[in-house]
Amino acid sequence: MTGLSDSFQRPINYLRISVTDRCNLRCVYCMPEAGVELMSHYDILSYEEIYTVVKAAAELGINRVRLTGGEPLVRAGLTDLISLLDSIETIDDISLTTNGILLAQHAAELKEAGLSRVNISLDTLKPDRFRQITRCGSLGDTLKGIEAAGEAGLTPVKINMVVMAGINDDELTDFAAKTVKDGWNVRFIELMPSSANEQVSSKLVSVSDMRKRIEAMGKLEPSQIEAGNGPAKYFRLPGTKGTVGFISPVTEHFCFQCNRLRLTADGKLRPCLLSEDEIDLKEPLRSGAPLEELKTLISKAIARKPKGHHLAEGTGRKGRPFSQVGG
Ligand code: SAM
Ligand code: SF4
Repeated sequence: MTGLSDSFQRPINYLRISVTDRCNLRCVYCMPEAGVELMSHYDILSYEEIYTVVKAAAELGINRVRLTGGEPLVRAGLTDLISLLDSIETIDDISLTTNGILLAQHAAELKEAGLSRVNISLDTLKPDRFRQITRCGSLGDTLKGIEAAGEAGLTPVKINMVVMAGINDDELTDFAAKTVKDGWNVRFIELMPSSANEQVSSKLVSVSDMRKRIEAMGKLEPSQIEAGNGPAKYFRLPGTKGTVGFISPVTEHFCFQCNRLRLTADGKLRPCLLSEDEIDLKEPLRSGAPLEELKTLISKAIARKPKGHHLAEGTGRKGRPFSQVGG
């Protein structure tokens, strides 16, 4: 069945799944440096449980899934989950959001298991700065991951850069130059405030400001990118293969075109990233609820999708960090 939509007539076809709240980095805008409270292993859905949720969602009309976290590649056996999801006939796009640190080791097997493509988070091209922003990572590992993803055919590879004033915004044009020189597809993302990033939450750079700074390199021509129907608006610098994308959750929100639901690592279905409303699926899953009951709960979550969020009014979010709900 297709044609699922919410109470504001938005078509819903996409499920974003956080497979773990664990991460091998501590990015300043996402997680606190220390004292991160972790979910117990018991609370985290097993791969079979995730598969059951996706099967129910697919019967309702969801046909695209993205795996995220935390860092999805720190969870053992992720390829097993991808194979399971790939066996669901009506799921026709499986993608992954990763920091890329472990990607070089896994790219080929992920592709083999059925992964279509990857988004890789990278906020700087400077090794020292990479260590400052991620608090513990090595730039070389993520760069190797980007290369391996392209070689394995996990394309289009999209690079996500969260732009922060005074921290990495001086690299906007360096990243844009990568779309010219190396054919990268870079998406520049506005920083969202959260309870986990109070020390940087004043560092927002608006998409209109980013755009002006990149346009000093040449006129940005509207463009498309194959695969994905998310919130980014795409452009190209003249005569280039790569794309420049912008994602503006704060200053020009895109709630009117939101097509997604989210599943947290501990089995809560979230109608919206930026609202704390959640519907529990873990308990029904573990007490043997039939697929029809799960489908009813998923439909309920879709019906509860709010019209929009209120980040721009500064009423931000205080709830669970993005690493738990799959930012
Ligand atoms: N660990 C993986 C990664 O970093 O790609 C996946 C999880 S991470 C929470 C998913 C995405 O959320 C990343 O692209 C990250 O940059 C973005 N993100 C996290 N916190 C954010 C914030 N406060 N504002 C904007 N984007 C954020
Ligand atoms: Fe980890 Fe991704 Fe959050 Fe960075 S953005 S701390 S890599 S979950």
